[in-house]
Amino acid sequence: MKYNRCGKSGLLLPEISLGLWHNFGSVDVFSNGEKIVNEAFDKGITHFDLANNYGPVPGSAEENFGKILKNNFKGNLRDKIVISTKAGYTMWDGPYGDWGSRKYLISSLNQSLKRMDLDYVDIFYSHRFDPETPLEETMMALDYAVRSGKALYAGISNYTAEQTAEATAILKRLGTPCLIHQEKYSMFIRQAEEGLLDVLEDNGVGCIAFSPLAQGLLTNKYLNGIPEKSRAHNPNGHLREDEVTPERIQKIVQLNEIAKNRNQSLAQMALAWLFKDKRVTSVLIGASSVNQLNDNINSLKNTSFSEEELKMIEKVLG
Ligand code: NDP
Repeated sequence: MKYNRCGKSGLLLPEISLGLWHNFGSVDVFSNGEKIVNEAFDKGITHFDLANNYGPVPGSAEENFGKILKNNFKGNLRDKIVISTKAGYTMWDGPYGDWGSRKYLISSLNQSLKRMDLDYVDIFYSHRFDPETPLEETMMALDYAVRSGKALYAGISNYTAEQTAEATAILKRLGTPCLIHQEKYSMFIRQAEEGLLDVLEDNGVGCIAFSPLAQGLLTNKYLNGIPEKSRAHNPNGHLREDEVTPERIQKIVQLNEIAKNRNQSLAQMALAWLFKDKRVTSVLIGASSVNQLNDNINSLKNTSFSEEELKMIEKVLG
């Protein structure tokens, strides 16, 4: 594994991080998730990404991760991993279980710590910008989370370039620099390139790219339709069948040919394509099996692209 400095901080993050959005909930097979986490750590993935609402049911991914830690990460192993969680999407009923108030963020962080049976998380994120709450209040909640020792670093997710510039300035004033921004970024979703990555670089903030395989679309999985064992088929999956469009399949088929010529799987090429931008600190994958995880980790074996290959890829993505 290669470790990259997160922005201008002291923290190194693995080039590949593992997210627990899918496959770790109470509806999933616990032993499968446990195997994936153990294999990831054995391969040098030291960063595990959660959120209060991951499941289903919401909260159950954190509970299961807490159990995995208890079973497998004894003694000082806690000091060898980075654990992230977030609050910002609907978590509980009533006016205090959603968005970006200090009330919600701090209550939610306390609940997350309880579910995982941890004293602190390494990174606590505001999961989304709240247009109804003053940004100062949301950032002060992150600052408090760090000062109280419940989190070591503060992060933001799904903030636009402008919102990020403002949030980063507030955090700097408060004395808790923004460590990292988590953004959806893949060959198919490229909004990060329209200003956000520049703002992050200018402010010394790291970038972690989520859904780098577009939830599995950028793999060989959907080349011949929607298989039964796939996120698009899974009723708990966030990839809808109607997102697997003929246009996308056509692109996937062509990208798969380019990947074959590089002696890589399409998943490996899609991940390698993100590593080439040095502003991307880490690529945050999901995996439903140990085999997928290893397929993805093997992307690190070939991360360079010729000009010709990049042009061909751009033409397909066109
Ligand atoms: P990916 O784009 O990496 O999709 C992962 C899914 O793709 C897997 O669960 C699997 O689905 C399929 N897959 C993965 N590898 C392969 C492979 N080698 N071959 C074939 N299929 C493969 O990422 P996710 O969408 O899961 O997101 C990753 C993480 O990002 C999340 O866990 C979460 O931590 C974070 N995230 C953050 C968000 C935010 O708002 N901040 C929002 C969304 C995600 P299957 O086998 O089931 O088809």
